[in-house]
Amino acid sequence: MRCPFCGTQDTKVVDSRLVSEGAQVRRRRTCNQCQERFTTFEVAELQMPKLIKSDGSREAFDDDKLRRGIIKAIEKRPVSIEAIETAITRIKEKMQATGERELPSRWTGEAVMEELQRLDQVAYVRFASVYRSFKDISEFRDALDHLENHCADNNASLSDATKEDKL
Ligand SMILES: [Zn+2]
Repeated sequence: MRCPFCGTQDTKVVDSRLVSEGAQVRRRRTCNQCQERFTTFEVAELQMPKLIKSDGSREAFDDDKLRRGIIKAIEKRPVSIEAIETAITRIKEKMQATGERELPSRWTGEAVMEELQRLDQVAYVRFASVYRSFKDISEFRDALDHLENHCADNNASLSDATKEDKL
């Protein structure tokens, strides 16, 4: 690591410790040339797979885009920002766990739906209806049936969804 004061490469680490609950390593360094001290932070940079869009073009994975999509679906629903961030982290971990360098963008959409299904049924139906742009009413029915079968305890919010979105 080059010294930011004098530019020499001759620096050494005098202390390192974990910060941000272990997500970062903070290192105190000292320059052997000018004796100045400075701090560096180390974070893991995990390679996210690129997304293959339906037209075949590739696009870099974008956290913010994912977040916007989820927040839109979750609008006015009782879901905390923390729960949303956890869902985003989980989606990213899943993407990385595939070990693939490229994934169809559809893959991310499905992963979002899985998370929303867990978080909030109304948000799930909203997202699914936009994302899958249900071709006909029977496809939408299937999604509702799927919901009813999997979430018998959440029928109240399901009927909310139908009302609110006038689907
Ligand atoms: Zn120096």
